[in-house]
Amino acid sequence: MRSLIAGNWKMHGTLAWARDQARRLAEKAASGLPCDVLICPPATLLGTVAEPLRNAGILVGAQDCHHATHGAFTGDIAATMLADLGCSHVLVGHSERRTIHRESSHDAMRKAVAAHQAGLIAIVCIGENRDERRAGKAFETAAGQLARSLPADATAANTVIAWEPVWAIGTGDTANAADVVAMHRLVKQQLSALLGDGVRVLYGGSVNPSNSRELLAIEHVDGLLVGGASLDPDIFWQIATDGAPD
Ligand code: PEP
Repeated sequence: MRSLIAGNWKMHGTLAWARDQARRLAEKAASGLPCDVLICPPATLLGTVAEPLRNAGILVGAQDCHHATHGAFTGDIAATMLADLGCSHVLVGHSERRTIHRESSHDAMRKAVAAHQAGLIAIVCIGENRDERRAGKAFETAAGQLARSLPADATAANTVIAWEPVWAIGTGDTANAADVVAMHRLVKQQLSALLGDGVRVLYGGSVNPSNSRELLAIEHVDGLLVGGASLDPDIFWQIATDGAPD
């Protein structure tokens, strides 16, 4: 399966910074895309970077969407609006949305439905926190989130799963190979029973150029979701290069 390397800029960046990022990424892409590369900027920057990135062959996604197509939802953004801006993907259920905004798996599922209806690929994020892992409930938590976050219309073509253990996000504490092998195997088995084969499963959590190659070599790791390390195009491209087929 072709790897997907996705960068999540989170809440970072001004217009000038984003233009420069897009220019630098496009320069790198001009010498060849190693794999599928996706950038998820904040919504305020989508209008500025979507076109130059897409012209360079880089996919563009958003970090969240609302479940409705329109209406009285102050501050929210519909999936149809993201599609209109040139997005092909949207993250749903990121742990920062689940924790800070108290979003549930049911919320993530409704957002994924909206994404699909708008023609977007939903990247459904799941992952246990440190307490759940310490209590031996990592698999149970991730499997429960996956079952509740996946909409009935999910397919391998419109859905990507990202397992992002919360304790590994932004901490420098990457999951070890044994944990990644075990979780990705479980997620793939669950997906295979629900949707059949071929759904991409990404790993996310403190990915950087010194661990990306090892992570991508693990069976059932079909790509990476990269936060902090995606803010520097040189570093992000080193990671993306590791996504090239052997
Ligand atoms: C993320 O926010 O999805 C993420 C994985 O962040 P980081 O790479 O910074 O841990």
